[in-house]
Amino acid sequence: MSVCVRFVRPLLDARQTHTALLAAATRRFCSDHSVKQRDEIMKMDCVELREKMKSESNPNFVMKGYKYRYSKFVEIEPWRARKHLPEAVSDDHMRNIVPEAVDIVVIGGGIIGSSIAYFLKQRAPEGFSLCVVEKDPEYTHAATSLSLGGMRQQFSLYENIRMSTFSADFFRNYRHYLSVLDYEPPDIEFQPQGYLFLGNERNSEDLLMHHQLQTELGVFAEVYNAQELNTRFPWLNTEDIIIGAYGLQNEGWFNPRNLLIALKGKAEFLGTHYVAGELVDFNVRQPLPSLGKLDEVDQPLEECNHLIVKTAKGELKQIQFAIAVIAAGAWSQEMAEMLRIGETDGYRSVPLPIEPRKRYVYAFNCIDGPGINFPYLVDPSGVFCRRDGLGGNYLAGKSPSEDEEPDSSNLEVDYSYFDKAIQPVLTRRVKGFEKPKIVGAWAGYYDYNTFDQSPVIGAHPYYNNIYWATGFGGNGVQMAPAVGRAIMELILDHEYVSLDLTRFGWKRLFINEEVRESLIL
Ligand SMILES: Cc1cc2nc3c(=O)[nH]c(=O)nc-3n(C[C@H](O)[C@H](O)[C@H](O)COP(=O)(O)OP(=O)(O)OC[C@H]3O[C@@H](n4cnc5c(N)ncnc54)[C@H](O)[C@@H]3O)c2cc1C
Repeated sequence: MSVCVRFVRPLLDARQTHTALLAAATRRFCSDHSVKQRDEIMKMDCVELREKMKSESNPNFVMKGYKYRYSKFVEIEPWRARKHLPEAVSDDHMRNIVPEAVDIVVIGGGIIGSSIAYFLKQRAPEGFSLCVVEKDPEYTHAATSLSLGGMRQQFSLYENIRMSTFSADFFRNYRHYLSVLDYEPPDIEFQPQGYLFLGNERNSEDLLMHHQLQTELGVFAEVYNAQELNTRFPWLNTEDIIIGAYGLQNEGWFNPRNLLIALKGKAEFLGTHYVAGELVDFNVRQPLPSLGKLDEVDQPLEECNHLIVKTAKGELKQIQFAIAVIAAGAWSQEMAEMLRIGETDGYRSVPLPIEPRKRYVYAFNCIDGPGINFPYLVDPSGVFCRRDGLGGNYLAGKSPSEDEEPDSSNLEVDYSYFDKAIQPVLTRRVKGFEKPKIVGAWAGYYDYNTFDQSPVIGAHPYYNNIYWATGFGGNGVQMAPAVGRAIMELILDHEYVSLDLTRFGWKRLFINEEVRESLIL
């Protein structure tokens, strides 16, 4: 059995989806063909039909995206001529075309959605049609663009450590994976630098316990006592510090926007179609009760294979799909509401506990600061700080406590939060940070899981053709490769193959079992 057939058949299980895909494709293919040919075509399955469309009647129809992009890549050498990049990867003409039907649709084209698209397509470029719906093609509000791009290995959960290990490996080889033809992807500007988690009386024991698990899983990190910390980091005030856990490998930060451009560019090259539009609703179909399909509370079982997209021109278009993946970050809860998740009895009784929470990043200058060897410092208070290039520039932030949570209806920055909650900690902790001069700041949304702050990954128990990959809080950009691989396996292999992420599934929300990461920023 060919790769295409093997992958497409399971996706098209739903008879009505299969028939509609076939009909839609046939309509296009047959526009200038006789009735007789139409009859012949109706006997084929989708894969055969696509092959035929490519080779005979209208090669440009299927290959248009490829051809267009191919010539653009060659023409302007996008990975080298970086000023042309945005045009090259998000062409207006292509992104305004809304397909009538696709095998897989991904909602949200940020780093998670684009990684999912890339992993699916690199596994079977010709196996299925895939489109990504993105409402903000310039990614002005996406968390990916506003992230600090930090990558670390030091986590407390087995899954997070293993996911980070995979991501580190992916980042090391990203040029190989994400090159397009002979052209290298944009530089993700990885800056190797260990995270230094400081432990006081309250959290030292936990840090040691997590360090043990990390070491068992192959993480290269060391624990220093206060004296060793002073020797290694002479600018550090250790008066209340007992230990510090310092990452020696695979930690640092990178440019998340460049990684997004690279993942998106490669996914498009492999045949993913990005649509500029906003998902505004799902069309849920309720079959006649006489068909006897009832759900777990004896109500007619609802099925969802259609969604409505509002285009940039304000038009409403319907897309039929076999499988959908929600990767809409801080906006994912809106999709849950569209599907009445959290509003009815039975499997839809539990809401998706994800909400947007505003997080600030402050840029400051301290010419007398520690400089190039400054680690990614994480204070026991939750304040974190890292270098930003050279020249005495630093970035800092802190996740607020519940009672400090700012209004999330806008992305305005509260500068007083730096003066109140961050600067005093830094000034006390680091020699040279006595007079930080604020030079800029921004805010972005964490997709915050109010249940246990861990992601929700996997299919919903009611709509089992709709997968979710959301709730990554402050860790999504570094986890993106591992999440892309995980969703790809769930869809194409029907199970996790490389790394079991079952604990991050919906089930824990139903049985009220938290899976909580302790080392959260
Ligand atoms: C200030 C800050 C610092 C961070 N620092 C780090 C860090 O150091 N390391 C780290 O790993 N992570 C960090 N993160 C977290 C990381 O940025 C996110 O976890 C990650 O970007 C999530 O990616 P995503 O693709 O799920 O979400 P996003 O990048 O937000 O993408 C979701 C996309 O969905 C689209 N969308 C939403 N609704 C719809 C709709 N109805 N129709 C169509 N499209 C829709 C949005 O336009 C958006 O582009 C940080 C986040 C913030 C805010």
